[in-house]
Amino acid sequence: MSLQLKIGVSYILVILGVLILLNTYPLIRARDMIFSTKSSALLGSADTMAAALAGLDTLTEENVTQALSVGEFGAVSRAIITDASGKILYDTREVGNATGYYAFYTELVQALEGNDAAYASYREGAFRSRAAVPVVYRNEIIGAVFVYEYDVEQAELLQNMQMNLLSISAGIGAAVLTLSILLSKLLTARIEELLTAIRGVREGAYNYRAAVGGHDEIAQIADEFNDLTGRLQVTEEARRRFVSDASHELKTPLSTIRLLSDSILQAEHMDADMVREFVRDIGQEAERLTNITEDLLRLTRLDSGVVEEAVPVEVWPVVQAVCRSLRLLADDKHIALELSVEQPCWVRATKGEIHQVIYNLVENAIKYNTDGGFVRVLLSADDTSAYITVEDNGIGIPDEDLDHVFERFYRVDKARSRAAGGTGLGLSIVRDTVRRRGGRIQADHRVGGGTVFTIEMPRAEEEQP
Ligand code: ADP
Repeated sequence: MSLQLKIGVSYILVILGVLILLNTYPLIRARDMIFSTKSSALLGSADTMAAALAGLDTLTEENVTQALSVGEFGAVSRAIITDASGKILYDTREVGNATGYYAFYTELVQALEGNDAAYASYREGAFRSRAAVPVVYRNEIIGAVFVYEYDVEQAELLQNMQMNLLSISAGIGAAVLTLSILLSKLLTARIEELLTAIRGVREGAYNYRAAVGGHDEIAQIADEFNDLTGRLQVTEEARRRFVSDASHELKTPLSTIRLLSDSILQAEHMDADMVREFVRDIGQEAERLTNITEDLLRLTRLDSGVVEEAVPVEVWPVVQAVCRSLRLLADDKHIALELSVEQPCWVRATKGEIHQVIYNLVENAIKYNTDGGFVRVLLSADDTSAYITVEDNGIGIPDEDLDHVFERFYRVDKARSRAAGGTGLGLSIVRDTVRRRGGRIQADHRVGGGTVFTIEMPRAEEEQP
């Protein structure tokens, strides 16, 4: 059952209920009110007639007719006076006058038993009401007065009211029906728009946005959806860029290898030294491929969210180990590698991660340095955080690149990075690792030239031996 149908049906049911109530309750109330006024008016008339007969010790046709010939007894359709046995002594009806016959109306019988009685009914477009009271002489019932009224005027009023209510109901019904159809159409149209957008995005149209106006819940859902799709679009674009960058990075060394091997195969008289040089180049390119795939694997592991359990790691020994293994590279380029520690401290991660992070930063600081430069690694801490600072007075990073160096495959100087064996992935691995362990990293210009990288990580409790 569609939402539109559900809303429509429930609307119609509610309105139907209201209209049925509107068409019955007021009419029943009005009829009951007319019944009770009629009954009491008739009882009043009967009472006045009975009062006119008071004083008579017995009732006869003559004395009743005489007693009633004077006075006004209200507008009734018919009045009957009987004696104590129910024999009619007086009847106001001209055609079909029942004088001399016995009357057995229920109300009359009740009156002869000493009780006032009244009854009213509505049928065939007329109110019919009857009332009877006893005529008493010295505590003895000597007869009864019975009055009857047949009224079409008030019945007509009631019928008019019924007709009016019906036409008002028809009007209301039609208006509500149109309105509810319009409303539910409007509502479902907006939901339909949202559905189209969701389906579009599912098919891969990430730039599709749901155009739902207004400020209600549906509009809010649409806004949230658009927001979500926007993010999805960004992620999807990043993914595509990453895949295309990665394939490009892998293709370059492969083409070089292909070119070099073709040259060896095609050259008929290549001297042995030349061949060795080509083969060495092929080896270098193969190593580059290995580096790139290793870095890619590391990033995929970081992306997949599979994290090794963190343990408290003491940072200073790791800094020392990294610098020991990079000392040769630094010496080669005549770069002074200086380490200092202000405050030994522990962080929560794995030893391998901390090693990788510091290694990448220090290696970069050496790679992008100038002959005779320096690299300083400083470990410090405050109450809550550990800080690892890697500072160099090398070539520096231009302003416009500073924010981008952590992006995948981003290089300021492609040729230099390649020549130094870089993959363009080192800093993104550093940033992802540090973030995963609750820390952050920042790159700044060094006053006096060069670059400063600062890592801040939450301090861990020292591990008890
Ligand atoms: P790469 O493998 O190219 O070194 P990274 O992700 O480690 O990739 O670094 C990205 C880029 O940032 C490098 O190509 C380099 O241009 C620049 N860069 C990184 N560290 C430094 C530094 N200490 N000094 C100058 N430039 C740097």
